Order: sequence, then C-alpha cells, then structure tokens
Amino acid sequence: MGEAFNVADIFGEDVFNDAVMQERLPKKVYKDLKKTIEEGKELDLVTADVIAHEMKEWAIEKGATHYTHWFQPLTGFTAEKHDSFISAPLPSGKVLMSFSGKELIKGEPDASSFPSGGLRATFEARGYTAWDCTSPAFVRHDAAGATLCIPTAFCSYTGEALDQKTPLLRSMEVINEQALRLIRLFGNTTSKKVTPCVGAEQEYFLVDAKKFKERKDLIYAGRTLFGAMPPKGQELDDHYFGTIRQRIAGFMKDVNEELWKVGVSAKTQHNEAAPAQHELAPIYAAANVAVDHNHIVMQTLKRVAGKHGLKCILHEKPFAGVNGSGKHDNWSLTTDDGKNLLDPGKTPHENIQFLLVLTCILKAVDEHADLLRESAANPGNDHRLGAAEAPPAIISVFLGEQLEDVIQQLVDTGEATHSLKGGKMKTGVRAIPDFAKDTADRNRTSPFAFTGNKFEFRMVGSRDSVAGPNVVLNTIVAEAFADACEVLEKAEDFEMAVHDLIKKYASKYQRIIFNGDGYSEDWVAEAKRRGLPNLGSMVEAIPALTTEKTVEMFERFHVFTRAELESRAEIKFENYSKAINIEARTMIDMAGKQFIPAVIGYTKTLADTVLAVREAGVKATVQAELLEETSGLLIEAKRALQNLEQVTETAAGMEDGEERARYYHFEVCTAMEALRAPIDKLEMIVDKEAWPMPSYGDLIFEV
Ligand code: ADP
Ligand code: MG
Repeated sequence: MGEAFNVADIFGEDVFNDAVMQERLPKKVYKDLKKTIEEGKELDLVTADVIAHEMKEWAIEKGATHYTHWFQPLTGFTAEKHDSFISAPLPSGKVLMSFSGKELIKGEPDASSFPSGGLRATFEARGYTAWDCTSPAFVRHDAAGATLCIPTAFCSYTGEALDQKTPLLRSMEVINEQALRLIRLFGNTTSKKVTPCVGAEQEYFLVDAKKFKERKDLIYAGRTLFGAMPPKGQELDDHYFGTIRQRIAGFMKDVNEELWKVGVSAKTQHNEAAPAQHELAPIYAAANVAVDHNHIVMQTLKRVAGKHGLKCILHEKPFAGVNGSGKHDNWSLTTDDGKNLLDPGKTPHENIQFLLVLTCILKAVDEHADLLRESAANPGNDHRLGAAEAPPAIISVFLGEQLEDVIQQLVDTGEATHSLKGGKMKTGVRAIPDFAKDTADRNRTSPFAFTGNKFEFRMVGSRDSVAGPNVVLNTIVAEAFADACEVLEKAEDFEMAVHDLIKKYASKYQRIIFNGDGYSEDWVAEAKRRGLPNLGSMVEAIPALTTEKTVEMFERFHVFTRAELESRAEIKFENYSKAINIEARTMIDMAGKQFIPAVIGYTKTLADTVLAVREAGVKATVQAELLEETSGLLIEAKRALQNLEQVTETAAGMEDGEERARYYHFEVCTAMEALRAPIDKLEMIVDKEAWPMPSYGDLIFEV
C-alpha cells in the first residue's frame, strides 16, 4: 500500500498540461500552441521542435526512457509502439536523448496489420498517427518503466480514418459549428466554441486472479461460458452501495492514485448490483479527452488488479444470472464561457432556446434510433440489452415529468405556459431539514435519459470505447441543429418561426419519448405499435451503419465517407464472427477435455458404489437414480458437443461477412446454449471435488 499523499499535490503530476506548458515553453511558442489547441491553427515545424524538446526534457525528468504515439485502431483496444529517446551513438560511444517536432506530430505505424475493412490492401501499408494536441500527453509508469504517451489519431496514407478518434474529432468540429449557428440565432454573440462534454461511468468485476486462471472461458473469452448459479445471487440487493471490502478498498485506493497522477479526475466509486461488481466515474471532460481517459481507466483497472492478485473483468456479461456491466455515457453541450445548452433553467417552458435544443435532440434520436443502438453493439452486449438489467435494445428517450409535461402542452395547445415544480422533500423527521426535490424521478430502465442538464446514454457496453456513441450523438444532433437553422435563418419572423418549429418537432417526434418501465413486455409491444426499431442483436444492428440515410448524414458533415462506413460494417461483422468462434472453440475444448472426462469419472464412482451397495444386499435406489440422471445428461452433453463442433466447422468454412456473422449468431450461439444447459445441470449433481474448475460461488462470492 502506498504512502499517504495529498490529492491536490499529485493530481496531474504526470501530465504535460497547460500549467507545465506555460512554465516551460517560450512565450511565443506557448501562444502558438494554444492557438492550435483552441482554434485548430496549423503548427509549423520549428515551433513543434521546441515543444517536442521541452516535452522530452520534462518526460525524462519523470524517468521516461521511451515515447509512444498512443492511438485507438478498430481493434477496440488502444495501440502503441515504443521508441526510446536515444540517438545513434556518437563517436565517443555515448548517446544523446532526442525527440523532434516531426516525431511528435507524426508517426508511421504499419497500417496493414490493423483492421481496415478492405480500405487498405496488405501491400498498401502506410498509415499515419497524428498528434491530437487537444488531449494532453502524459507519462505512464508501469513494468516497462516510464513512457511518454502522446494521444494521436490514426489515418491511412490516403486520409481515411482507421481509428475511433479521427471521426470523433471530426464530429466535435461539426457539432461546434452547428451549435454556434443555433445560439447565434438567439442573440448569443459572445460564446466562441461549443464542446460536447462526456462523463463515462465504468462498471467492472473483480475476481481472484488464481481462480480466474483456472477457467479457460475467462482467459479466452473474457466471460464464463458455463456455470451454474450459486444458491445466492443478487436477490438480496446487499452488494449495491454496500461497504467496500478491505481487499477491494486497497485496490480502489491504488487505482485512484494512479489515475489522479495522469490527470484523470476519478470521482466516485461504489459496489454495483451484482456480487463482485463495482463502478468508477470520473468528472466529465471534453469528449475526446473523456474517451482517452476512459481508455486509461480501463487499462489502469486491469494493471492495478494484477498488483493485488485480482483480475478485472470488463466484459458486458461475465456471469449469467447476475447483472452485467455497462458504461453510462453522460453527454451535454457546453460553451467556452460556461453555458450548458442542455440546462433547462427553473422554468423550461420559457426557455425557448432550450426547447429548440431539446426537440432537435428528440428529432435526432428518433430519426437515427437504429444508428444510436448500433453504436452500442458488441458481442457481449447482446447478452445484456433487454435482459431486464440493462435498457432494452429499443431506443427511447426519458424526459421526466416536468419536461414531458412541457412537451405535452406544446403538442396539445401549441403553447407551453407553465412548468411543474419539484416541490419539497419531506422525510417526516424533524431533525432532517427539508430540501428542494429534483423536478424528475430517475428511470433506470431508459436507454437515453435526461438527467437534469445532460443526457445519459446507458446502452454502451462496458468494454467499448465511448468514441463510437459520441460520434453518433454529435453528428445526429448537429444534423438536427443544421436543419433547424436552415429554416430559422430564412424566417421573416424569428419568434413565430421558432415557436412553430418547436411545436412541429414536439408533435412529430413525441413517439420516441417513453417514461415507463423499459423492462416490461408491454413496452416491446407498444414500441412496435409506435414503429420504433427493435434491433435485438449486434448482427441485426450493424446494417444501420450503411443505410442511405446514415451515409447521407455522415457524408453531409464529412464525418465518414461511404467507404469508411462500409469498412466499419465489414470489420464489425468480422469481429463478431471471430468473437463467437473463439467462444465456441473454447466451449468445445472445455466440454471435451474437462467436463465430460470429469463426469465420466464421476459415473464410474457412482457405478462402483451401486455395485458395492447391491453386493451388500441393499437396493442402492438413490445411487442408481443419480447414475441414470448423470448418464442421461452426459449423453445430452455429448450430442450437443458434436452439434456445436459441426456448426462451428460450417461457420469456419463460410466467407467472411454479414451472412457468416448471422450464421454465428443464429446457429452457433444456439448450439452453444444447448451445450451449456446439460453441463450446468451436471455441475449441480457432480461432487464439488470432482468438478474441474472454480464455480460461480467461488468466483464472485469469495473475492
Ligand atoms: P448521476 O448520479 O445522475 O449519474 P453524476 O453526478 O453521478 O450523475 O454524474 C455521472 C457522470 O456524469 C459523471 O461522470 C459526471 O461528471 C457526469 N456529468 C455531470 N454533469 C455533466 C454534464 N453537464 N455533461 C456531461 N457529463 C456530466
Ligand atoms: Mg449515472
């Protein structure tokens, strides 16, 4: 356990942040760099050289030996290649430490080994990483020593995005432009920039590393593929917000310390609903910084877990029968002078700009519900969405009583004349002072919920980058803003026009609002009546990326080209097939080499017992029944295994693409479930000593 420290002293100590730049860079260089950061002005090489030199000196003082361009290819993980600062040896045999402006702003990793979805042939290998100076560089300390990490975007030689960050930065520019255009119409001439702000809450599981290593499913697939529920699950709700156990508390302390040093403002931590499940949330930041920070959070959780003899599991559904993990993407739009466009104020019905922003968001979400849902699709999330623990796969918007009432007034009469008040919170205890209540209750079942001054997109999977969902949010809302501005800029009477537009949007897009129980069967039927899409799985969601509607929107705002979208869809189908293939093969391996042999051994023990008992002149009814039952399940398991082997082989022989991914989803996944069922039943029968790996109980109740 580390020494006592003062958070304010260590916060950001390993970040090349504004304070460091101001202190170390010559005034003119600092000014030029700020211009680049704030206004996107091009940086000349001479200035870049000075910055690189200072960054290197600073990093070396922190113990750094290497630097890396840190980027986010379409693997879903971050990537890095380390270069040491040493130059070619001098005649004296010594080396210098060097780092040039060119090395800072541009890197050249071989692009052919990263997924490009057909954008790049293997021989067209050139790709570039380009410095994202709006997300600060930092020094990371780990087993490799200290490394200067430079956040970068990753593009092909011909300029196509090969990563998550490039489209995110493009979408941030687009929403900035369109939001500025909108607020100018309302007479705001002072704000210079509108930034999408994001706070990503991260859920995760912690299990004991030794037990983890005894489960091939956790090792290869990141989730359990077999496992019977222990006698106790999460039904008592005793884990959520429960006292944090000492072993976990020690882990959290170290995580926070590491995060604070690299400038991640880790703020809240608590136990989540499932046993062994926890959550960490930072304070929100500009979308690209928040995305980078979330990657740092995920990596830090994993690294620090290792130091505590733990394994951090980020999969969306590591254990059947208890809740899985997600990531809540809190999103708002904030001006450089501190105004939040999603702040309704005390009387939202009078806040015309807010009502326009809000109804534009309704329009955006309704028109692109399929695309937003797709942005949260990954193989793990298929087990979570709609499983009565996470939002359903149907996109809807929760507004809360106050705003829903304002929208209803607009729809009914074309005029909103009043806003419901939150009222006072009275506990009935005199010693507890009354306080003002929020104007809306919470709704945990909604995928896209208004929470006071931001929207919370709750569908995102726990492992996924939040870049994808924010690219979609930024662009669909920018499109709605642009459409509205086009009408309003031409209007002769602005007041009338904006009034009409708000009423029109409120009526037209009211169907996307749903404040009820998103987990209920009734909602599925109701959503169908309303014509809302219900894309139940990743393979059904991916086509939303390449519809004409989607392509047109992304091309209109230069966020994605058609080719980029097609390549992303291709990569996603491919990744899905690969993920299920690994799971299927892991199941085949575990069933064939571990479970079936263990059960055969157990039937022999039973058979021997039956014979021995009968020899002693007793009937051995129970023992014989158990033997029957076990043998029956063994047959079922063997047949299911054969079937799984067969469909997996068929899938492997298919050509990559949508059809194959669908085959994996509809055929292979079904065969996997058919194999799991008898094995899980066997786990309940077979002697614990004879079972070849730790059970759910061992894994999640004994951390
Ligand atoms: P809740 O309890 O409603 O989820 P919290 O205050 O715990 O809200 O915040 C959850 C996350 O939302 C945190 O990461 C927080 O920083 C972030 N957040 C708060 N306000 C905003 C905002 N205006 N824009 C974006 N994210 C925000
Ligand atoms: Mg929340």
